[in-house]
Amino acid sequence: MFNNLIPLLGVAILVALAGVILVRPLRRAVITRPIFSTYRKVLPQMSGTERDALEAGTVWWEGELFRGKPDWQKLHAYPQPKLTAAEQSFMDKEVEEACRLVDDWKVTHELYDLPNEAWRYIKDKGFLGMIIPKKYGGLEFSAYAHSQVVTKLSTRSSALSVSVMVPNSLGPAELLLHYGTDDQKNHYLPRLAKGIEVPAFALTSPWAGSDAASIPDSGIVCKGMWQGKEVLGMRVTWDKRYITLAPVCTILGLAFRMYDPDGLLGGEKDIGITCALVPYDHPGVDTGRRHFPLNAMFMNGPTRGKDVFMPLDFIIGGPKMAGQGWRMLMECLAAGRSISLPSSNTGMAQMTARAVGGYARVRSQFKMAVGKFEGVEEALTRIGAYTYMMDATRKMTAGAVDLGEKPSVVSAIAKYHVTERARQVVNDGMDVIGGKGICLGPSNFMGRAYQQVPIGITVEGANILTRSLIIFGQGAIRCHPFLLAEMQAAQNPNVGKGLVDFDKALWGHIGFTIKNGFRALWLGMTGSHFAAVDVDTAPEMERYYQQMTRFSAAFAFLSDISLLVLGGSVKRREKLSARLGDILAQMYLISCTLKRYEEEGRNAADAPLAHWAIWDAMYKAQQAFDGVIANFPVRFIAAFLHRSIFPWGHPYVVPSDDLGHQVAKSLIAPSATRDRLTAECFLPRTENEPVGAIELALAATLEAEAIEAKIREAEKAGRFADNPRANVRDVAGVAVELGVITAAEYEVMKRRNHLRDIVVRVDDFPFDYNVATANKPALERKAA
Ligand SMILES: Cc1cc2nc3c(=O)[nH]c(=O)nc-3n(C[C@H](O)[C@H](O)[C@H](O)COP(=O)(O)OP(=O)(O)OC[C@H]3O[C@@H](n4cnc5c(N)ncnc54)[C@H](O)[C@@H]3O)c2cc1C
Repeated sequence: MFNNLIPLLGVAILVALAGVILVRPLRRAVITRPIFSTYRKVLPQMSGTERDALEAGTVWWEGELFRGKPDWQKLHAYPQPKLTAAEQSFMDKEVEEACRLVDDWKVTHELYDLPNEAWRYIKDKGFLGMIIPKKYGGLEFSAYAHSQVVTKLSTRSSALSVSVMVPNSLGPAELLLHYGTDDQKNHYLPRLAKGIEVPAFALTSPWAGSDAASIPDSGIVCKGMWQGKEVLGMRVTWDKRYITLAPVCTILGLAFRMYDPDGLLGGEKDIGITCALVPYDHPGVDTGRRHFPLNAMFMNGPTRGKDVFMPLDFIIGGPKMAGQGWRMLMECLAAGRSISLPSSNTGMAQMTARAVGGYARVRSQFKMAVGKFEGVEEALTRIGAYTYMMDATRKMTAGAVDLGEKPSVVSAIAKYHVTERARQVVNDGMDVIGGKGICLGPSNFMGRAYQQVPIGITVEGANILTRSLIIFGQGAIRCHPFLLAEMQAAQNPNVGKGLVDFDKALWGHIGFTIKNGFRALWLGMTGSHFAAVDVDTAPEMERYYQQMTRFSAAFAFLSDISLLVLGGSVKRREKLSARLGDILAQMYLISCTLKRYEEEGRNAADAPLAHWAIWDAMYKAQQAFDGVIANFPVRFIAAFLHRSIFPWGHPYVVPSDDLGHQVAKSLIAPSATRDRLTAECFLPRTENEPVGAIELALAATLEAEAIEAKIREAEKAGRFADNPRANVRDVAGVAVELGVITAAEYEVMKRRNHLRDIVVRVDDFPFDYNVATANKPALERKAA
């Protein structure tokens, strides 16, 4: 009898539950209300600065990736960024000439600055005003053009690219354009556009680096004398460091916290972070000293001031913008962060791919080009594939800015992952070229990049912080379709309205999580083979779209369960948050790579680069999933997650050696693929420049290879036995004497040898070169 009742009871409970859930007022009263009350209590209080940071910017493609079912048509529909005729001409003429004017060894070792001629040129030609509209005399370039310029300059000299990049990034021009008063815009923008003013922007203080909102620099509202009259102003005290261009700036953007203790403005006493523009020669402003950031030699230094009186009109946007500084900075951050570091670091990688690839063919050991050894191939493969992916990422992200986005999350992804890959690429490049990269001098084409790569890691949001706190921490709240709505509803002072909004978001959220859980399981069980790809793709790439759909569903599910279990503490669980961010980031990088392959016309010859980069990223994403699940605090949920996401185990493996071989091969010989991969490289065509010499030597090496094969055959046949001149350096001379090769072939070999010698040469200096004072004891020892 009881046995018959149990199913009936079960059905009755289900029907009752369904009734409660489906009848909205009932659901709200019985289920949502208690959850809402608890949520309101446990929701961590957010400071104003945290809220500004979180709400700044827009959500773009990463929103699709976060939602479990990316709309691939949308990805393909984003227009391919292109240069206008004027922008292309600027790249071909002005950028080329600016590169030509700079010799990086002279800059970093002799001048400790850009040559005057280069400074004059970049100012006169408008490099410092690329983002300024034409009506103010600027170039009004697209974000993509701006990115192209910075990328190319970075293949030549970091001092050059940083000096151009910073005025066009987050700083006075950007802030003035968005928030300046008409008077400020009309005065400063034309002067900035023509380089009459050189800007710097000072936020960082010795006590507040990553936590920049806690700057102790202050501005106290008071009365003072300005241009012969008593006016309302502020007494500002600051101590800043690391400020790019500060030593040479003429206009200093300054962030400080403004207070009005005497109520002169009639409102709050603690007004908040405020941004002002101060001329460098304003009484009390101290600029001019410099740091040496890893010998990059762009101008960078401290600035200080004590009780410096300035009128309220110095505030960017005028007195009404007092206290709005943090919001202004956060809103403008995404555009600059989307362009500066992704572009400069891609430039560095492009140059590494080009020069190290060429070097690896020219340099031979054990009678073989070093680039053909499997061990070296591994490093070359990473250089090639990462450069392809980095370039894809910087282009797509710059394209987002041109679409009017302020992509706060993808700009953080691009900044972190492009700079980290650049670090790997440069390290690999150094390994491949061996001692050639170690000895500094005019013919070392890698040493400075190696020294300077940590700069990109540290600036514009230090990488550890960006990965641990921002990518997922901000991404989850911004991109999730319901999370922000739930938080806003819980914080609504109108509790009744808050409950209604919360109910809607909460039940949407529950449905979303369940759906993604089932989809993740289904896509995992079927290896995503049945996932629809509703867009025209290259057949060789189609599987990746399916895999990405699977990743996206699994990620959405894992994120929701993590947020449910960890709640607000996810902010402190940085290791888990970082790994969740890694998954989102790898999906973004893969999207950019797929988009690049599509936009460039599905070049089959480039496919190995894309395949390798994508497999590597999928493998890394899988590792990040594992890292979250293995460390998930509730073990039975971890087991459940593992079964749901990887029902048959781990499907993603490292990219194959064969694929790696194809990538490495494309770097060590001229080809259209190599040209596309390194399209923005500044390539001097002269043997007097290290990169120019490699280019010429590579061509000569290839021309000589068949002749060299003949010499090897003769060598194997014992024809040079016991001839001391038949060594690695001079064997061709013996070969021509013995008639193994013709005189014409010997000329080819001679030219190859000449260029190869230039390429492998390293610089040496007199014993007491430049060290006479520092190394005095050694000199004295030698004299004794
Ligand atoms: C060459 C150069 C140029 C610069 N240009 C400018 C400029 O023009 N204007 C300007 O205002 N500033 C500039 N900066 C400052 C730059 O933005 C800061 O260096 C950066 O914000 C980091 O601050 P910090 O160096 O004091 O490191 P710290 O804040 O001391 O950080 C130390 C380490 O702790 C990590 N960390 C900190 N907080 C967290 C957290 N919550 N979670 C995880 N990890 C964390 C960081 O990632 C970093 O690895 C520049 C810096 C350099 C080196």
